[in-house]
Amino acid sequence: MKLLIFGAPGAGKGTQAKLICEKLNIEHISTGDLMRAEVREGTELGKELDAIMSRGDYVSDDTTFELLKKKLTGKVLEEGFLLDGYPRTMEQVKMLEKIVGEVDKAIEIQIDNEAIIKRLSTRRVCDSCGKIYNAVTDGLEKGDQCKTCEGKLYQRKDDTEEAIKIRLETYEKSTKPLINYYENKGQILSVDGAGTVEEVNKIILKKLGV
Ligand code: ADP
Ligand code: ZN
Repeated sequence: MKLLIFGAPGAGKGTQAKLICEKLNIEHISTGDLMRAEVREGTELGKELDAIMSRGDYVSDDTTFELLKKKLTGKVLEEGFLLDGYPRTMEQVKMLEKIVGEVDKAIEIQIDNEAIIKRLSTRRVCDSCGKIYNAVTDGLEKGDQCKTCEGKLYQRKDDTEEAIKIRLETYEKSTKPLINYYENKGQILSVDGAGTVEEVNKIILKKLGV
């Protein structure tokens, strides 16, 4: 199955993507994760990406595609994947279609801006396995480690109020129109993202028919 997942920053895309991929046994490809890995490695490209991402801006279509392309090969193309955070512009849609053709479904997680800001400012991420936590709902204390792998939990640089505002505006302007595009193809599955992780996941799997 070839899937896409859309949602404003903080909608729960990454969390749901991981769960869906575990269930369907398909590859989870997050362009944001690919970029953060590059930043961690400290490459020249990583330094550029860090500056762009910290502001909350989108990385160029060409650079993003270069990173993505390496993942979309052989077995992954045959057995299926879920793209998390790609495409985000119409140009990216075109680039993607050239290598994968049509996708099966595009999941859209809907959520209002107020909830987003609340979630993102308290989000923490494991630097080792990428697991996502919420400092409030998970009751984290300073210095807590990842419950699955004991990695260090950190706050993303783009989870500041200023960057969140820019990310929301950019999503609205550049990525929202893509929902219409996939809607017109009859591929959109819209889900209310306000529930708990488990609730939202259940609805998604049901709508996917699994
Ligand atoms: P979120 O959806 O919460 O913003 P991601 O981890 O998906 O988080 O993305 C983080 C950042 O990585 C984006 O704000 C952007 O700078 C960059 N990025 C990720 N995917 C893309 C993409 N497809 N095109 C351009 N920039 C991207
Ligand atoms: Zn971890």
